[in-house]
Amino acid sequence: MNKTTIQRVNYHTHCDRCRHARGKAEDYVQEAVRAGVAALGFSDHMPFYDDRFGLRMPYQELDEYLGEITALREAYRDSLTITRGFEGEYVREDRAYYEKLLSRGDCDYLLLGQHFYEKADGELINVYQLKDTEDYEIYAANIVEAMRTGYFRYAAHPDLIFLNDFPWDDHCERACDIIVEGAVRYGFALEYNANGFRRGRKQYVDGERYQYPHDRLWDKVKEAGLSVYIGSDCHDPEQVYDGIVEMAYGKLEELGIAVRTDWV
Ligand SMILES: [Zn+2]
Ligand SMILES: [Zn+2]
Repeated sequence: MNKTTIQRVNYHTHCDRCRHARGKAEDYVQEAVRAGVAALGFSDHMPFYDDRFGLRMPYQELDEYLGEITALREAYRDSLTITRGFEGEYVREDRAYYEKLLSRGDCDYLLLGQHFYEKADGELINVYQLKDTEDYEIYAANIVEAMRTGYFRYAAHPDLIFLNDFPWDDHCERACDIIVEGAVRYGFALEYNANGFRRGRKQYVDGERYQYPHDRLWDKVKEAGLSVYIGSDCHDPEQVYDGIVEMAYGKLEELGIAVRTDWV
């Protein structure tokens, strides 16, 4: 696929409501219009009704957020297509919550962003606070379980866990296999996340690399013949469709992985 002619889309967009992104939702829309983006999906970090996780909008702003995006969708309808959603974790006991969000009429989709994973006993673990790779398969199995529920449109940064600095081992290998096999089994899309590139290359115990995307996962994605989405995961209006997004398209082209831009 030629990246110069590919339709410009991005379904992974944040805004200032999550308290760690810069710029109002409208600033992202204006940048998208300027950059010739045809479809822009807002997927700010999903609040939970008990505000259990940090780094996201308070639950009480949920209606206001969806109202804001709905108003922008109307105001800019002649320039681009805006969709309304959230990026959030799959937690087993919250199925009713996802269903409620998706049936309200002003929430078009959910992206799976497993920043926390759930152990068999329900304990939620932050992937940023791991001491070893023991749980990597549990993290991967959480993602596959979420794929099966049908609540989520695609898995954002499925290789997020590799931001941790542990040498590659069987847990890493098996976690990748579980995710790729799940994506094949459920026809579920994975996201190649541009924001990982924005974090820069780092020195890890087994060499210099990006935190994510991690090549070992994407080699398996290629082998499996999966097509993927590229998500900007912008936290600044300037990043909506920046040089890093273009770089991500270039990398997938090099790898021989087909990119999806459709939104079915
Ligand atoms: Zn964020
Ligand atoms: Zn994100």
